Amino acid sequence: MSNKGRVFSGARPTGRQHLGNYLGAIKNYVELQTKYDCIYCIVDLHAMTTLEELEYIKTNTAEMALDWLAAGLEPEKSILFTQSHVPEVTELHTILSMFTPLGKLTDLPTFKDKVRLQPQNVNYGLVGYPVLMTADITLYKAEIVPVGVDQQSHIEFAREIVRTFNYRTKKQVLIEPQMKNTDFPKVIGTDGKKKMGKSENNHIELALSDEETTEVVKTMVTDPQRIRLKDPGNPEVCNVYTLHQYFSESEQVQEINHDCRKAKIGCVDCKLILSQKINENLGSFREKRNQLSKNPQHIWEILDDGAKRARKIAANTIAEVKSAAGLT
Ligand code: SF4
Repeated sequence: MSNKGRVFSGARPTGRQHLGNYLGAIKNYVELQTKYDCIYCIVDLHAMTTLEELEYIKTNTAEMALDWLAAGLEPEKSILFTQSHVPEVTELHTILSMFTPLGKLTDLPTFKDKVRLQPQNVNYGLVGYPVLMTADITLYKAEIVPVGVDQQSHIEFAREIVRTFNYRTKKQVLIEPQMKNTDFPKVIGTDGKKKMGKSENNHIELALSDEETTEVVKTMVTDPQRIRLKDPGNPEVCNVYTLHQYFSESEQVQEINHDCRKAKIGCVDCKLILSQKINENLGSFREKRNQLSKNPQHIWEILDDGAKRARKIAANTIAEVKSAAGLT
């Protein structure tokens, strides 16, 4: 890797990606490759904190990597790998856990949310999640982590652990990661209410066929004021319009805005135009995905190669960390 500045980002293996993943993360990942040395990790160990996902981890990892590659992640430019294939991360997690007060972990709002969501499975991994995340970032000496507004507290917490480690060992071994705020807003799902996500079943998968995309877009909730065709609408409260802003040309967006307010366009036609635009935008992605999916073994080879490159960096960091902590 060069000295362009190192970016790290990880995402849980959630299988086939949807428009929310694309607009909120993947598009940004692809753009960052031109400016930075990027390390992108599929965090399968984190997925284990939710045991229900266990049986899907392998297939979800492969499907997600396939989508990332089809969307433009280039293994020649970036390191793309699976978290558990670099075992040094668990070693660093253990070491950093000694520098992290338990009370702070159990006080985190994200931990309390998890306890509320899965009271039947409050495992140790859930508590240590932010420490493992810190290990993910610092193992590769990443300087920059792209984050949305809702993840800023995690990175702040990671910075705190790094400061504590460096202070207690009196060695500046670990790098305090900087946040790079992404300006991609949260993408709302087809229900028009909640963030797009598989668990909400309100998502539009990137890998759908053109026809399937059209069918899903048809189900999207629009402005509730538009009961009849002659009712003027409010595009600003309609998620179909929001998605037009991502996928349609600006003239088209302006036209829809105007025509919706004047009741000159119906929601059925508006959705049809949207699905056409999504399909046009995703045409090359789908073509590449089809090509890549003909050789699934190649996806694992790319991940293996990424893990080998990641382990070289990890081995150096672990040696430095152990030395600093007196574990020589
Ligand atoms: Fe939404 Fe389009 Fe219907 Fe207006 S015409 S409410 S923007 S779907």
